[in-house]
Amino acid sequence: MHIFQRIDEARSFCSRARSGGTDIGFVPTMGAFHEGHISLIRSCREENETVMVSIFVNPAQFGPDEDFVAYPRDLDYDAGLCREMGVDAVFAPSVAEMYPTPQTLSLDFGGLTSDLEGRHRPGHFAGVGLVIAKLFNVVGACRAYFGDKDWQQLAVVRRLTAELAFPVEVLGCETVRDSDGLALSSRNAYLSATERQSALGLYRSLRVGSDKIESGERSRDAVEEAMALVLAEVKGLSPDYAVVRDAATLMPVDFLSGDLRLLVAANVGGTRLIDNLGARADRPPPLSTLGEGVRA
Ligand code: AMP
Repeated sequence: MHIFQRIDEARSFCSRARSGGTDIGFVPTMGAFHEGHISLIRSCREENETVMVSIFVNPAQFGPDEDFVAYPRDLDYDAGLCREMGVDAVFAPSVAEMYPTPQTLSLDFGGLTSDLEGRHRPGHFAGVGLVIAKLFNVVGACRAYFGDKDWQQLAVVRRLTAELAFPVEVLGCETVRDSDGLALSSRNAYLSATERQSALGLYRSLRVGSDKIESGERSRDAVEEAMALVLAEVKGLSPDYAVVRDAATLMPVDFLSGDLRLLVAANVGGTRLIDNLGARADRPPPLSTLGEGVRA
């Protein structure tokens, strides 16, 4: 397995693979691997001849008061897992390699990032967009694997790819959870045992919301109130939001219908956690489609 630190080495490896006729699968990460990352790499390995994994803790997506310095890093462990999984190349550049000069370019995703994580983490998605654009420029035409866990990020990456015409197929992969429902995250390492118990409130809130939709609730307010109530009852948890949105646009929908996404964010101790879950609300059939007998 190759480990590249330089952009030109990683780029020529990918170009060579493509000119040899193989397709490339790419998994961008910030390292500190858990089963969530592993599931992306596994899907990528199964579906592509050449697999490239990037490991880069991207300073541009952290706010000034966030955990860029404290973020867990263990390149040897991560590279060992990549080797075991049959990854062909790891790209692990330094900050200086990725950002040799101060960046003047700033990406703005408009309404897609004016709410939710975008509202609570100003500048975060501009930083995500920048690093993904750079990585896509290094890797070139590929299939790229992202987790549903970061639902708004996935929407941003899809928008970036479409609007800048990257030759990349973006694939979303299901969230991997612990057996008690907690979504795996590198930041779970910050949680004490008590905080971890409180963190379970996020998934409980999502489940309560999705159960309500499944049992026929179509009022956004009612679903969001039920979700907020679950979070409010958890000691040590301070919610940022608990909402239900259109799954693709992330816009609020008053009468719930179609593909929806429930999204929550909360602080547990000093750790900020996010999670989300899909739900489908099919409109009840219009009365005119029901037979006479049914109506009577
Ligand atoms: P990160 O290293 O946190 O930037 O994550 C790298 C990729 O792994 C992103 O596409 C995340 O959405 C994805 N990911 C993180 N946690 C999970 C999880 N629990 N299940 C599936 N994918 C995940």
